[in-house]
Amino acid sequence: MVILNYYSKMQNISNSNIHLDQITKEIVDIMTGEKCIIMILGTAQDAGVPQLGCDCSNCTRAFTDNKFKRLVTSIGIINQATGKTYIIDSTPNFAEQFINLHKLKTRYISKPESPRLKRVRSRLDLDGIFLTHAHMGHYFGLVQLGKEACATLKLPVFATSAMRKFITGNRPFKELVKNHNIELHSIIPGKPCLNEKDLIITPISVPHRHEFSDTVGFIIQGPNKRLLYIPDINNLTRSLLNVILRSDLVLFDGTFFDKGEISSRRKWEPIAHPPIIETMNVLGSYVRRTKIYYTHFNHTNPVLNPESDEAKEVKGMGFGITPEGWTFGI
Ligand SMILES: [Zn+2]
Ligand SMILES: [Zn+2]
Ligand SMILES: [Zn+2]
Repeated sequence: MVILNYYSKMQNISNSNIHLDQITKEIVDIMTGEKCIIMILGTAQDAGVPQLGCDCSNCTRAFTDNKFKRLVTSIGIINQATGKTYIIDSTPNFAEQFINLHKLKTRYISKPESPRLKRVRSRLDLDGIFLTHAHMGHYFGLVQLGKEACATLKLPVFATSAMRKFITGNRPFKELVKNHNIELHSIIPGKPCLNEKDLIITPISVPHRHEFSDTVGFIIQGPNKRLLYIPDINNLTRSLLNVILRSDLVLFDGTFFDKGEISSRRKWEPIAHPPIIETMNVLGSYVRRTKIYYTHFNHTNPVLNPESDEAKEVKGMGFGITPEGWTFGI
């Protein structure tokens, strides 16, 4: 019953965007006893909302209304059992997202490690970054760790061998390795890449445009719940459907509501994210067992407006629209 109450509160909270300064005592209270905390750090497609040079209705509104603005898709993890903090993907908004996560940790969750110890090790209260793939929204923030910026020391970055090759083969990212700002750790899809008290993280292969690297999603197993994180995907496969079925909560690619959002100048095929209208049909029978929330919204996506018919349709079908700043335990 405790868990049911917890999830019904989560549902209420997730009905609107929450920014860090709006985090209320209620949200902190429901996390009491939660060992492993997830914070949604961003929910937009790689270019964010508003997108530079765009005057569509979503971007126009986001330029003037901060609550409508969305940072690039990323999640933070705070493991209270070990005191460690992780971020999945290093987006162009990485600095702002790290600060949001750090504020949450220091204000509400737990005291961070001694700042002195951290300064020696990495200068950041951060114990690792896990990368999904080599599209600009997912790794570009690594530059914030270099000598022109934070100049971390051997901050662990977890990536597949193709993603590691991309980093070590291209400036400015290869300078981060050469200067020991980051330390690359290999991950292999299907094998846990982090296994500590109350937290196991396992990458899984995801079909997606592979121009520069392969792509993974992550299974994040806490002491009570299993979260599946797949921000970018081309199409659902049988094996991924099985993983979804075995998850309690899924944060899933909701880039486009339907294909009509792409202008005639651009061809759909090279973009190829499955539109929400199609994945809701495939996943419709799963939502009784698994909470499925869409994320990675393109600036054109009508579900960004909670008053739109499309947003109401998504919620009516039992799916969620991931809010920024949403914080919960697993
Ligand atoms: Zn992306
Ligand atoms: Zn726009
Ligand atoms: Zn991508």
